[in-house]
Amino acid sequence: MPCEVKPRILVLYGSQKGQAQSIAEGIADEAEEKGLIAEICCVSEGDKFNLEKERAPVVIVVSTTGDGDPPDNALKFVKRIKKKTLSSDHYAHLCYALLALGDTNYANFCNCGKTIDGRLQELGAKHFYATGYADDGVGLELVLDPWLEGLWEAIRRALSKMSAPQPKRDVTDTRVSSEETFESLATDVSLHLLTSETGSTASLTLSFPPLSESALNVPNLPPPYLDVVLQEATTREEVGCVAEGFQEVPVSRSAKLTSDDSVKTALLVELDISAHPMDYQPGDSLDVLCPNRVSEVGELLLRLGLMDRKSHCIQLSLQKDTKKKAAQIPSYIPENSTLQYLLTWCLEIRSVLKKAFIRSLVECTEESGEKRRLQELCSKQGSADYNLYVRDPRLGILDLLRAFPSCQPPLSLLIEHLPKLQPRPYSAASSRMRHPGQLHFVFNIIEFPACIERPGGRRGLCTGWLSDLVDPILLHPGKVQSSSTSSSVPKVHVSLRQNCSFRLPSDLSKPLIMIGPGTGVAPFIGFLQQREKEREDNPEVVFGETWLFFGCRHRDRDFLFREELQGFVGNGTLTHLKVCFSRDPPEGTETRTGPRYVQHDLLLHAKDITNLLLRENGYLYVCGDAKNMAKDVNDALMEMIAAELQLDKLEAMKALARLREEKRYLQDIWN
Ligand code: FAD
Repeated sequence: MPCEVKPRILVLYGSQKGQAQSIAEGIADEAEEKGLIAEICCVSEGDKFNLEKERAPVVIVVSTTGDGDPPDNALKFVKRIKKKTLSSDHYAHLCYALLALGDTNYANFCNCGKTIDGRLQELGAKHFYATGYADDGVGLELVLDPWLEGLWEAIRRALSKMSAPQPKRDVTDTRVSSEETFESLATDVSLHLLTSETGSTASLTLSFPPLSESALNVPNLPPPYLDVVLQEATTREEVGCVAEGFQEVPVSRSAKLTSDDSVKTALLVELDISAHPMDYQPGDSLDVLCPNRVSEVGELLLRLGLMDRKSHCIQLSLQKDTKKKAAQIPSYIPENSTLQYLLTWCLEIRSVLKKAFIRSLVECTEESGEKRRLQELCSKQGSADYNLYVRDPRLGILDLLRAFPSCQPPLSLLIEHLPKLQPRPYSAASSRMRHPGQLHFVFNIIEFPACIERPGGRRGLCTGWLSDLVDPILLHPGKVQSSSTSSSVPKVHVSLRQNCSFRLPSDLSKPLIMIGPGTGVAPFIGFLQQREKEREDNPEVVFGETWLFFGCRHRDRDFLFREELQGFVGNGTLTHLKVCFSRDPPEGTETRTGPRYVQHDLLLHAKDITNLLLRENGYLYVCGDAKNMAKDVNDALMEMIAAELQLDKLEAMKALARLREEKRYLQDIWN
């Protein structure tokens, strides 16, 4: 009897937070269901695959992190393929498709994907499918879903071409034309979203024709892979919060930096790190571990019917006959964790429900109307509803369980689908030179308004938790600090996150231009504290000019670090402090005409700034949490450079790109 040989594909991923990995795993699982053999590896596992000899179609899913950098586990791979000694036909045998994940709120969108793609092309590899650029800033699904949908037909074509005798004359015909991008598909999806919005009164739980009557294309059921046993704990010993590399440090002081009538509340937290020396520099940030909210963990335990077993230890094992490719027990769940610990410290229980998770929840839902609605939400036809009622309001598992009472998932499903609870980074807002043994940071308490799906609204996970934590010792503007006993001193688990490029230049004579509205001013407080100390210690040195562009809503409500900044100006550490208030009329007037945002202030000083940057080799830093700020500043810089140097837009862009390459235009932004 002839033996049937299944075609094979190789799936590679490079992932920082697990998103690219989970997409790659989904591809590998689906491939198996479609009768293919899928091998899946992290690009860092160079010993498990060999691209030099690979003849099967390769699918690469890779994210971008930081300032356009590869994820940590892709660094080695990128370095390897960038080797100058590789010839231009090194990968001439390779046929691949690449999905790049990124976020257009950050500079260098999908840079890692673009780098890998560009280099593979230079080395002769060919696309069998157009590269997808999925944007987390607007929702990965917009590009991801159509990209995944078209992938299988492309793989089928690639496999049949590979098995057919290759015509010698045209080696490039598997290449997808550059016009064939996924932007058009993304537009289709957005249009669909608009039409379903018009006139519809649907909701998370309710749909109307045509969707409610439509035949549905529902994704395949993700194969389950974990067995979970809950065992009564034999000892009373709780697993502590022991994340590797984290230290528990006391909060020595905390102050509210905004007035009570400010729209946003900013808090300063001062950590006492004297017993846990951390070798930080201004420009670095620190990761803060935060737990899920006690009330949400309690509600989840109740809803899962596991409240009476919250102190039981969980034991995880892989299902022997699982169809999931590369199934692994999550490494971030310590052995002997109790159920309560797992839900409090290990899983991001608020993470936005992915379609694959919703698909799995269908199987655990009894009531037929609820079942149908869940099928719709994960189906191709229900994409617009998914975006409107799940993605945009950022619904998590708890929100869904509240709305679908007959849905009763097993604990294993949550562990399989919920990502790792991530620590939140905060920029250091101090210098060890000025404050030995201390590390300060500042944050806004994030407030999410109420929506139909979540009528109470809520606060950001970490910022809400931190604000509750420091509340007993919080110093309000103009009030005396309440005394705290050592037993009531709040403590946080933190770990240093170095940023080797966002640093002060070693040459003290170089001019500095700092742009940091809102809490984006944090690293510059550290820079200026360090500069102030360096000036005291080196009175003979001539220091470069320092400019700070700060912005907030109102002069008397949210002008963060006002006294400290004015002090820097007073003692000459800061040569120019430019502050704009987006909601105040300019002094002496009733109406607004002056600069509203930092980029407007920049334009007012275009001559000085371009001169410092381009003729005096200055350094420009941008930091902040504003969604569009970094882009607006970039546009303003381009406009300034074009005008000052009489360049066209393209040349001005190139000049900015050169500054980036020289590490003289640096960004540290978040949203
Ligand atoms: P989360 O619960 O994580 O929610 C915030 C995020 O979820 C938002 O990004 C938003 O996109 C999304 N979100 C959640 N729910 C909703 C909803 N209902 N509607 C819309 N969107 C929603 N922050 C500072 O304040 N100060 C700093 O100095 C600082 N430094 C940083 C440095 C770096 C390198 C990075 C990457 C980030 C920095 N941040 C800083 C941001 C900070 O890490 C956190 O992201 C922020 O404090 C929010 O955390 P959270 O847990 O309170 O919010």
